Amino acid sequence: MSTTAATPTDAAPPTAPEAPPAASPATTRWAHPTSLAEALAELAVPGSVPAAGCTQLAFALADPRRRPGRLVALGGVPELSAVQQMNWADGRGTVVLGAAVTHARVAADADLRAAVPLLGDVFSRVGNVRVRSVATVGGVLAGAVYAWDPPTVLHALDARVRLDGPNGRRTVAVEDFYPAGGITVIEPGELLTSVEIDVPPPRTVSRYLTLKTRSAEDSSALGVAVVLGFDPSGVCVRARLAVGSATDRPVTFTDLDALLLGEGRGSTSAKAVADGYADRVTCVDDLRAGAAYRVEMVRVYVRRAIAAAYEAGAA
Ligand SMILES: Cc1cc2nc3c(=O)[nH]c(=O)nc-3n(C[C@H](O)[C@H](O)[C@H](O)COP(=O)(O)OP(=O)(O)OC[C@H]3O[C@@H](n4cnc5c(N)ncnc54)[C@H](O)[C@@H]3O)c2cc1C
Repeated sequence: MSTTAATPTDAAPPTAPEAPPAASPATTRWAHPTSLAEALAELAVPGSVPAAGCTQLAFALADPRRRPGRLVALGGVPELSAVQQMNWADGRGTVVLGAAVTHARVAADADLRAAVPLLGDVFSRVGNVRVRSVATVGGVLAGAVYAWDPPTVLHALDARVRLDGPNGRRTVAVEDFYPAGGITVIEPGELLTSVEIDVPPPRTVSRYLTLKTRSAEDSSALGVAVVLGFDPSGVCVRARLAVGSATDRPVTFTDLDALLLGEGRGSTSAKAVADGYADRVTCVDDLRAGAAYRVEMVRVYVRRAIAAAYEAGAA
């Protein structure tokens, strides 16, 4: 498993005294592989860390206590830079986003927006244009910072990550990607190589609502993603929610989501679902918001997100 230190504003209040500064390299060396095989070989060199858009790594590079000795640049690896369609027919199938694909590219892809609208929505809202032009799909997942938005949306979309490493390839659901806050299942020597998202069936409506408490370009204090599927008469037949940024990793309560099934416009379960999420989530306390406030905002935003999806889907 790999752990990634969060930026100061994303870090939860420390529970233990900080470790004394470790010896850090005066300079950071770079490797520039041009294939996936080369990238994995470079990563096997002791002290090597993958580098994508570097929007988070920049904090570590500026901190002598955390500066990596060797970075493996992923931007020159063609296998990581593709947007592909798998098992595709009639505009449906699986979208495969290479790990080095930038947020800006996802946001600007009209076909992608048509197939999975929530992807374009969330990736167009991250930070600002400078961040989105270099930050990557792989970096935003591997960074394992609870405040970030795309993991919550990818969790709600039932996305999967593909990992390649010395022991071969494996696929992990985003839902299982964070065994605990700030930790991923990526093993030493492994790279996150792509993210797979199944195109939702027709008559699926999705919404992602965020609560920001600081600047518009800051990460969210709360993010709620809702994906609802409707039958032709406007009755909800699929429901999947995810709450993130307020919790140490995205969470879903499938028994609560199921309360929405079988209901049409004028759903009476939205309040019960929202109250259920608020009662069960464990929220973080940080500079963006206190835990108790976040819990109450979960109650409000889950209900709002369900209402917004019903409004569009049961129309
Ligand atoms: C000003 C600013 C505003 C921001 N606002 C928002 C916001 O509103 N919402 C939001 O969600 N986020 C926000 N962010 C955070 C942003 O989403 C992340 O910094 C960015 O997505 C990280 O991606 P990257 O490609 O730059 O990762 P990098 O910084 O290159 O890497 C991040 C971590 O992931 C590892 N890594 C990268 N790629 C891989 C891979 N393929 N396999 C394995 N490990 C890998 C690296 O080793 C590193 O540990 C903001 C950041 C900034 C600087």
